[in-house]
Amino acid sequence: MLRDTHAHLDDAQFNQDVPGVIDRAKAAGMDFILDPGCDEATSAQAVALSEHWDIVYAAVGFHPSDCEAFDPDRHLPMLTRWCQKPKTLAIGEIGLDYHYDDGAPKALQQKVFATQMELAGNLGLPVIIHDRDAHGDSLAMVQAHLNRETSGVFHSYSGSVETARQIFDLGMMIAIGGPLTFKNARKTPDVVAYAPLDRLLIETDSPYMAPVPRRGQRNEPSFVRLVAEKMAAIKKLDVETVIEATAANAQRLFQF
Ligand SMILES: [Zn+2]
Repeated sequence: MLRDTHAHLDDAQFNQDVPGVIDRAKAAGMDFILDPGCDEATSAQAVALSEHWDIVYAAVGFHPSDCEAFDPDRHLPMLTRWCQKPKTLAIGEIGLDYHYDDGAPKALQQKVFATQMELAGNLGLPVIIHDRDAHGDSLAMVQAHLNRETSGVFHSYSGSVETARQIFDLGMMIAIGGPLTFKNARKTPDVVAYAPLDRLLIETDSPYMAPVPRRGQRNEPSFVRLVAEKMAAIKKLDVETVIEATAANAQRLFQF
């Protein structure tokens, strides 16, 4: 079963044709699409989509770029309520994003990240981590706050082999998406070659990051097969082996 562990079906780019996207995903053999929220509105939409579509599941949380809107008094009870729904499987996406000079203050990002990681630990749920240009701090935060029993994933992993090794030492996984297929991909193919097959997930990050030969188009979950094909080529495995292994990993991590 082909599974997409990260797709923003709540994004406005899908407003007109979620049914078509779901149809194409099912035709491609998919039984699982995980939609992570980034703030209050998108988390609510992810939960609603998961309640409407059989193959859609939700995660809820505040992305580092949206951390200034996080109000613990309002949002901790809200996140907790959403997590009691049977198809809400994780807290995410949460993490650190140091890419933009005018981004949210690092100290606030770290505080909101830590608060949500502790919530996930208390609720017994895994975490979906967004780490952009913040590999050292993200790893340190995870080392300090991760519930190792419920674990988590670094999504759209863009770090080094050495950081991946430390992530695996924590019992976590990494998820790989469209950038693996880009001509200018440098570190990520080495990471994929190095990573044990039982620690890899595949994702699209739809509507962004469409894999080659769809690069530049709107991405959608059925395109995740292109990521599996590239991963298989790098690891010298057949694509069905990669699809089945990554599907089993998704089930093990997200417990659906
Ligand atoms: Zn995302």
